[in-house]
Amino acid sequence: MGLFNNMLVGAMPFVPKPIVGFFAKKYVAGTCLDDAVKTVKDLNAHGVCATMDLLGESTTDREEARNAVAVYKQMLAAIEDLKLDSNISVKPTHMGLNIDYGFCFENIRELVEEADRRGNFVRIDMEDSPTHDDTFKILTELRKKYDNVGAVLQAYMRRAMDDINKVLAPLKANVRLCKGIYIEKHEIAYRDYETVRNNYGYLLEKLLSEGCYTGIATHDEMLVWKGMSVVDRLRLDKDRYEFQMLLGVTPALRDIVVKAGHRMRVYVPFGEDWHPYCVRRMKENPEVAGYVMKAFLSGGK
Ligand SMILES: Cc1cc2nc3c(=O)[nH]c(=O)nc-3n(C[C@H](O)[C@H](O)[C@H](O)COP(=O)(O)OP(=O)(O)OC[C@H]3O[C@@H](n4cnc5c(N)ncnc54)[C@H](O)[C@@H]3O)c2cc1C
Repeated sequence: MGLFNNMLVGAMPFVPKPIVGFFAKKYVAGTCLDDAVKTVKDLNAHGVCATMDLLGESTTDREEARNAVAVYKQMLAAIEDLKLDSNISVKPTHMGLNIDYGFCFENIRELVEEADRRGNFVRIDMEDSPTHDDTFKILTELRKKYDNVGAVLQAYMRRAMDDINKVLAPLKANVRLCKGIYIEKHEIAYRDYETVRNNYGYLLEKLLSEGCYTGIATHDEMLVWKGMSVVDRLRLDKDRYEFQMLLGVTPALRDIVVKAGHRMRVYVPFGEDWHPYCVRRMKENPEVAGYVMKAFLSGGK
């Protein structure tokens, strides 16, 4: 990313919320569960399944984490009652990982149990590197009793292949593979764009050939091509993998993948806590960040 773009995205957190909100609408379903349900119904009607995410992270308050668990339970009930094609994604720090490991584990376990009862599935999102060991530990512990829980692997992490060999392949885990979005130190994460891409392809082949159900989560056309070519070469049935994209990002590429007959799942975030999520999305797309800054500098006119 160039210096100007760096400055632009660095300024994003200081832009007033209403201006960010105007440009960010397409990335978030809304503030309440009804909004998310509406979006999921619409996606389902177009042959696309979903994963619903209640926005929120780095919770330091037990009550807030418990409230989030309650909303997730409402989501699972709504999915079953309305026959939606959707599962749920949760962030460990939203479930209280920064408060206490045991508290967080119990919250996620409760959701996995509830999902199991309702024939649904819980994906544990992957956050920044200090949370990785605990997140893999939670997955490993839960998999002793439940099959309906999966993890995320970030291709920019230097440890990613080790995590496949030591944790994910032995568990035959259900894994979402993405590039990784947090800012990490060079010692632990690849920074070069092509290296991350190459590692993504390498990890994808490994996950699929180890028999891990894999969510190929990317909007990078080259990696979408890579995904399609690997599943073809390995002659994988369509129930062994899926593609995944974020709400509002590259819908045209999403349609191409769907038309080619692959399963596609869209990540549908919602909730009052939309601002940090949208700033992260805009940081990934300096073009949108540019529009936002322009609106800000012209007084929102
Ligand atoms: C379903 C899903 C779940 C994810 N879960 C996690 C997670 O748990 N942990 C984690 O660290 N990361 C997660 N991510 C984010 C991921 O790590 C990447 O940061 C993100 O997907 C961008 O990488 P990319 O592979 O799309 O490639 P990029 O090279 O970043 O993007 C490829 C192209 O997509 C388009 N694009 C990308 N972002 C935007 C945008 N915001 N607006 C408009 N166009 C855009 C651009 O045209 C860009 O050229 C998830 C991503 C997806 C799709």
